[in-house]
Amino acid sequence: MNHLTALSNSELLNQTRILVSRERELTAELLWHLREVERRRLYAEQGFSSLFDYVRRGLGYCEASADRRISAMRLLKDLPEVEPALKNGTLSLSNASALQHFFKREEKPRSAADKQEVLNNVMGKSRRECDVHLASLAPEAPKRDRSRAVSATHTEIRFTADEELMQMFEKLKSLLSHRNPNPSYAELFTMLAKLALKRLDPEQKPKGKADKSIPATPPAEVDPSNEKSRYIPQALRRAVWKRDQGNCSYVNGETQLRCGSRHLLEIHHIQDFSLGGRHTLENLTLRCQAHNLHTALLTHGSGVMSRYLR
Ligand SMILES: [Zn+2]
Repeated sequence: MNHLTALSNSELLNQTRILVSRERELTAELLWHLREVERRRLYAEQGFSSLFDYVRRGLGYCEASADRRISAMRLLKDLPEVEPALKNGTLSLSNASALQHFFKREEKPRSAADKQEVLNNVMGKSRRECDVHLASLAPEAPKRDRSRAVSATHTEIRFTADEELMQMFEKLKSLLSHRNPNPSYAELFTMLAKLALKRLDPEQKPKGKADKSIPATPPAEVDPSNEKSRYIPQALRRAVWKRDQGNCSYVNGETQLRCGSRHLLEIHHIQDFSLGGRHTLENLTLRCQAHNLHTALLTHGSGVMSRYLR
């Protein structure tokens, strides 16, 4: 792939777009092939127990990918409009599969026209938006909390989270992304339980310690007014966070698209610290790791930054 380094930025972006479009075309093509393999029952001839087994073990897809492809194929078979939507990207494989599972779960089969209407309503939607729309058509009653032992050491817990809790989880995940970019719910709950116990458990509560919610003052040996110190006072960090609303402030000059990521955020000096940029509210901003690095590359060039690039 060394030839890629010779491409200009616009050539690279162009080719990437072309590849995405080819990938979508190929995916639709693959679904039709799976359909024909199923129709001829070739998977059985090849020694697999089902089409799913063939796609998973025979073609090497993981379980989730195999399921997405097979469900999308079934939807494609029923609704011809699925093909152009998959090819132009208005319907993702994941939404196609969610739609097919939804139709399958329904007690009373929908007519083709009905299915088409549901399809039209999820076009261009994210996976979560698609789930929300499908749930609005047939809301499931929240299930009662349940816990059951699955082994001598592990318990499965099931409960239904409301929107407020899910938003809090998303915010927590973003704030924790430096430590763990993709925590499981078990990891999140462990962390939350530890934090809560530290505050509430009298055996763990530190005696006479200052309230954590008050912004920490800089340690005595670090003088925030010292221009040579890289230390950014906590209160200033909070002010930057608040002004930038806790998300990456990078804006593309051409498209005016703001990144807005809440993951792996760092405090960034607009005028670089090594070039005399100061710790002031005006010179500091929030950037995700990708955009911090992007700006560093523009400032220092890829030669200096090569050790940070993978
Ligand atoms: Zn960003």
